[in-house]
Amino acid sequence: MLTYHQRTALVTGAGRGIGKAIAETLARQGVTVICVSKSAESCGATAAAITAAGGKARALAVDVADGAAIARAAEELLKEFPTIDILVNNAGITRDGLLFRMTEADWNEVIATNLTSCFHWTKLLARPMTRARWGRIVNITSVSGVMGNAGQANYSAAKAGMIGLTKTLAREFASRNVTVNAVAPGFIKTDMTTQFVNNPEASAKILEVVPLKRFGESGDVAALTAFLCAEEAGYITGQVFNVDGGMAM
Ligand code: NAP
Repeated sequence: MLTYHQRTALVTGAGRGIGKAIAETLARQGVTVICVSKSAESCGATAAAITAAGGKARALAVDVADGAAIARAAEELLKEFPTIDILVNNAGITRDGLLFRMTEADWNEVIATNLTSCFHWTKLLARPMTRARWGRIVNITSVSGVMGNAGQANYSAAKAGMIGLTKTLAREFASRNVTVNAVAPGFIKTDMTTQFVNNPEASAKILEVVPLKRFGESGDVAALTAFLCAEEAGYITGQVFNVDGGMAM
């Protein structure tokens, strides 16, 4: 049994896939969840599903690649919620291609969406956490950030950057009882991986390097993330946890 004390969380990329599963898992524990996604439809659907199931949620459409939009959203939120106790930086995109074919626009879009967004959200929401002497920050990185992955220079760099950010902020915030950890999924069945999962040749190749011989589910990542947000995870900080079927041992 884990303890959450009716806290408030903000989950980015909560409209679909892993972020939706994280939002729903936290909401089942009595956490009020602010569901952020790019489109109002997807975060709205997640918030509606949580509310219909008896939980507490709010939808908030924000383009996390836009630092000024994050600042406006955070300012409004902090008027209403004096502290957002839990931040899950999960929103992410891929724009894959080998380096020689990768455009600067694809590089910049992935870095802004996957990495710089974490800098902005954390800078704005961690201050009240440090004042309250309690906080949980979980950054959803990737095995690509741990191991590297051909065709994903932009994505791997952003995800590795999130790991450096996690370890540094864990040190900066430790004295204020705010923990910062990273979760690194392997291949999880979501819209992001449909093209591989639904292609028998590609999926067979991928599963060759996954000891558990199957793709993961969003719930597998959500379960660990929710644990890291609980009261009981208070002595864990600065860590990277793989949820990858044993891929990156
Ligand atoms: P997904 O199904 O494609 O969902 C991505 C979510 O992020 C959506 O809700 C999307 O919003 C949101 N998002 C994307 N760009 C955004 C922006 N500029 N502003 C606000 N929200 C934005 O992805 P997923 O597979 O669940 O992945 C979630 C995270 O896990 C990502 O960081 C990804 O890199 C990481 N990850 C995934 C896997 C995997 O195998 N799936 C593996 C390793 C790491 P909309 O719904 O509005 O489009």
